Amino acid sequence: MPRPKGKPRKPVAENPGESPAPQPGNPKLTWNDIRYFTPRELTCTCDGLCDHPVAISLDLVAKLDTVRKLIDLPVRIVSGTRCKRHNQRIGGALFSAHVPKSGVSHAADVACPDARFRFAFLTAALPLFNRIGIGKDFIHVDDDPDLPSNVVWVC
Ligand SMILES: [Zn+2]
Ligand SMILES: [Zn+2]
Repeated sequence: MPRPKGKPRKPVAENPGESPAPQPGNPKLTWNDIRYFTPRELTCTCDGLCDHPVAISLDLVAKLDTVRKLIDLPVRIVSGTRCKRHNQRIGGALFSAHVPKSGVSHAADVACPDARFRFAFLTAALPLFNRIGIGKDFIHVDDDPDLPSNVVWVC
């Protein structure tokens, strides 16, 4: 069948809307590469203690995005970046990966509603994250390069 004349076609990706999984350490990552999360969800949630900078590592968000896509379940962020004062106020660890260092934070907590979600999330997250904390109703993931790696803890 002859192609209709008109504007030249742009090359179309095989699966429109599906971009390749962002690579860890990719300096070219932008929020446009993130499909399931917004900067707002990952900024500090304190009330007036900071100016809510968007400080979270995009590598980390890209990995979360991959997990979200793999498990195909809604993922609700409970905590992303925390300013020092907010972290203190909620009893976060002294050297929490949630608190930006050199302007970048490296952790997120996601709500964990039930055992099935925990299983699905951990299965997808373990190959991507080397620091995972398991709370009663949340899961913490981080890629802080200055903290011990290959650890899973309970919190
Ligand atoms: Zn804050
Ligand atoms: Zn956390």
